[in-house]
Amino acid sequence: MFTMSGIYIHIPFCKQACYYCNFHFSTVLSYKEKLVQAIAKELFLRKTFLGNEPIQTIYIGGGTPSILLPEELDIVLNTLAKEFNLSALKEFTLEANPDDLTPEYLNYLNSTPINRLSIGIQSFDDADLRFMNRAHLAEDAKNCVKLAQDVGFNQISIDLIYGIPGLSLQRWEDNLATAFNLQVQHISSYCLTIEPKTVFGNQLKNKQFITASEELSEQQFLSLINLAAAAGFEQYEIANFAKNKAYALHNTQYWKGVNYLGVGPGAHSFCKNERSWNVSNNNQYIKDLGNNILPSEHEILSLNNQYNEWVMTGLRTIWGLNLAEGLEKFGLNQMKYLQKQLQANMEANQIINENGCLILQPEARFLADGIASNAFMV
Ligand code: SF4
Repeated sequence: MFTMSGIYIHIPFCKQACYYCNFHFSTVLSYKEKLVQAIAKELFLRKTFLGNEPIQTIYIGGGTPSILLPEELDIVLNTLAKEFNLSALKEFTLEANPDDLTPEYLNYLNSTPINRLSIGIQSFDDADLRFMNRAHLAEDAKNCVKLAQDVGFNQISIDLIYGIPGLSLQRWEDNLATAFNLQVQHISSYCLTIEPKTVFGNQLKNKQFITASEELSEQQFLSLINLAAAAGFEQYEIANFAKNKAYALHNTQYWKGVNYLGVGPGAHSFCKNERSWNVSNNNQYIKDLGNNILPSEHEILSLNNQYNEWVMTGLRTIWGLNLAEGLEKFGLNQMKYLQKQLQANMEANQIINENGCLILQPEARFLADGIASNAFMV
């Protein structure tokens, strides 16, 4: 009997900076190859981090992993195959941007173990794409999905953003209709949030940015839920929708507290009760690994922190909070506390107890984060 585990690899490069993005990335591509070599070194140095468990999911994210040339991506893929037990691998996702997905590149990807693409489409409308400084056009977005399907990818996820200033409800619903027509298996959709230290964040600080109204963003979220359901998508997590149970296995493992190794600058790892994170600086990362040093820090999560994460992530999913699992992990008093804190939500039918799992009802999904924080331990 073995437990599941996953690997996340962060590729910290992008062609240009999207105005809303606060991920770790650089637009200086000249040391891409050195960084790939450093990632291969980190994979080698940390090959026993998960205790030689078979790897069930791999996710290469970023940044923009599809910015890697085939020979660069091959270095990562060959190292994974050499240093890890991939015999039980179920899902291997690569994040890609539409403008990188040429027929040649897709054919190459299809010849590798990668079996799922997560495409950063964000919008099918050129006005929104320009507003956010995305590197592709609406036409690229539509074409790349078709091209990927033509070469044989049958697990495709796309990202879409709502709550963009100037995005009307009608244009959002047009976006959704386009997405459904493309016959993708999975959609992740988030409300635009304005983070400090981004271009939008600075504009907001200087009063040069007008956010979309909360009411309109809520309407767009509701229309997403309703139209996705009508198109056959199940909302299995607040921001994630799957057809025919094509759940994102890697992310589902995160939400269920499964161990994972995160490799690359800024990547986080989790094993048992320990969380670690790599330096978010590409040069430092390359330098340290060149000296066989792991550029990471770690912390032991307190039981309260573990409980809070369990509540937060569990309530966002259709699987909810399994009380028997909570009892085993956190004890009887903690489960009594949880139920006391959620009592009012249960009486209001916002949460139901289904076979020992506390499950947030669809009408209350908007309130998930607030309900969860009410049940936190401080
Ligand atoms: S492509 Fe992705 S990671 Fe890169 S800047 Fe845009 S949103 Fe951020």
